[in-house]
Amino acid sequence: MPGSGQADPPSVREGDFLREVIAATAGDSRLGCCIQCGTCGGSCPSAADMDHTPRMLFAMIRAGLRGEVLRSTTPWMCVSCYFCAVRCPQEVHIPDVMYAVKAIATREGVMPDSTAPDFSRTFVSNIHRYGRSYEVGLAAKHYIRHYPLRLPGMAPMGIAMVTKGRMGFAPHRIRGVAGLRAILARAEELERDGATREVPA
Ligand code: SF4
Ligand code: SF4
Repeated sequence: MPGSGQADPPSVREGDFLREVIAATAGDSRLGCCIQCGTCGGSCPSAADMDHTPRMLFAMIRAGLRGEVLRSTTPWMCVSCYFCAVRCPQEVHIPDVMYAVKAIATREGVMPDSTAPDFSRTFVSNIHRYGRSYEVGLAAKHYIRHYPLRLPGMAPMGIAMVTKGRMGFAPHRIRGVAGLRAILARAEELERDGATREVPA
């Protein structure tokens, strides 16, 4: 069952969900050229934490397993490192596909039973607030909310990263954050407009 408690979206005719995802990735049809070689999953640093490898997820998209795909943790575990994308023999823009699936799932309120979407929401809210990531706040909020007992074990690593200058203890707001917020608002508006457009046959 989805984390939201909402009923599963039904599977759709083979090919329809593929078209929907392609439309949500600005019409980039390379996903349809996936040859299921598995290079993406073999390259992915997050594969062990995913419900399905990227290769499996793409096969499910093609098969029209819409509900299963939208409830998969896979897109939420993707850290957008682009390693798979540079190695894919078909030049599939894999992180874009992950973003597209997350956008559809978010719009429909269909979430995997995982803390990953909440992590993503906190990350996005930090971007809105500061204009950039705030790693200490992100990790602290997530662990306090979901894994409070693990927090003491994480503290030494966090302190070491702060003292070595790899992370800032306090958040830093970029200059012109109001401009960035305006860009994000416009992007959300375009996303909503795109979502109402008909999926090409
Ligand atoms: S590396 Fe590219 S072609 Fe191979 S399975 Fe992944 S997406 Fe498909
Ligand atoms: S971009 Fe995402 S799916 Fe691709 S290798 Fe990185 S984490 Fe894995």
